[in-house]
Amino acid sequence: MKLSAEAQVELDQARSQSHTTLRPTVAALEAQMFLATPVLDHGFVRLVDYMGDDAAVVQAARVSYGKGTRKRLEDRGLIRYLMRHAHTSPFEMCELKLHIKMPIFVARQWIRHRTANVNEVSARYSILDREFYLPRPEDLAVQSTDNKQGRGSSLSEEEAAAVLHLLKRDAEQAHDTYEGLMGRFDLARELARINLGLNTYTQWYWKIDLHNLLHFLRLRLHPHAQYEIRVYGDAIADLVKLWTPLSWEAFEDYRLGGTFLSRQGIDLVRKALRGQSVGRADSGLSKREWKELMEVLELDPDTEIVGPGPAAT
Ligand SMILES: Cc1cc2nc3c(=O)[nH]c(=O)nc-3n(C[C@H](O)[C@H](O)[C@H](O)COP(=O)(O)OP(=O)(O)OC[C@H]3O[C@@H](n4cnc5c(N)ncnc54)[C@H](O)[C@@H]3O)c2cc1C
Repeated sequence: MKLSAEAQVELDQARSQSHTTLRPTVAALEAQMFLATPVLDHGFVRLVDYMGDDAAVVQAARVSYGKGTRKRLEDRGLIRYLMRHAHTSPFEMCELKLHIKMPIFVARQWIRHRTANVNEVSARYSILDREFYLPRPEDLAVQSTDNKQGRGSSLSEEEAAAVLHLLKRDAEQAHDTYEGLMGRFDLARELARINLGLNTYTQWYWKIDLHNLLHFLRLRLHPHAQYEIRVYGDAIADLVKLWTPLSWEAFEDYRLGGTFLSRQGIDLVRKALRGQSVGRADSGLSKREWKELMEVLELDPDTEIVGPGPAAT
């Protein structure tokens, strides 16, 4: 990822200025202001602005006049309580504004998260850069056999080279056509763009509150999410860790690292802890539910009985 000389000058200018404010700021996040973290081959996540911090969550929860914070340990306990019991509105008091550049197929998935404010670059007004996403050879893989939305084993070196050749050829040809339509025929930009591929890069400003951001991250950091959006999730997660470390810790413990168990799932765990054996057939769980629960419990997904002496993997 390389910023244009013009963009770099603007970014440097923004970072050379500072403002005094009565608002609370987070030193670790201030250090990241306006910087672009590279993602994929031409993409980035860039912090534009933020409002609030862990103390703002506590302040809102206590509906306090001042900072609302007490001892760090008490604040941490309160934030963990809020996260544990899905008392989510205090987390909505913090906001993050990002400038993101990503391939259009990533933006298509991203825009499904409706609880954010978005302003995307207009390809009716601006000419899109000659930038398209080409995966790294090691990220090219065959269709997964057990997950219809996923990928399986990697392509061989020769296959990867052949696939990349085709992807690059088509993207370059489409961009040549795009430029030709505007140059030779003076075709309107809103029409010239319609042949461009989903791997063309787009950009937007994206503003979201912490509650909805954590929801986004829970879905898009999940191993089932597509790699190309997950890496954006990783870059944003790194900012959240700096911004609201206590909220992030609670989120990691209760949401990212935690799981929901069904009534039948809890029943199974209780029985197993009491020393009873539970078989898949009498668990009330479907084969798929059983497999997923065994994965959560880190037991062999093909095991048929759980109980004394479970077959731990
Ligand atoms: C791994 C994965 C695979 C996916 N596959 C597909 C797919 O194949 N096809 C597809 O179309 N989508 C797919 N999606 C998108 C998915 O269905 C959601 O649209 C997306 O993740 C946004 O989630 P959300 O609606 O919870 O988020 P947001 O839009 O941010 O909404 C957050 C929450 O607000 C509430 N909310 C927001 N708007 C409304 C509303 N209008 N009515 C009621 N409640 C509302 C809901 O509680 C919602 O959970 C996939 C997502 C993931 C993570």
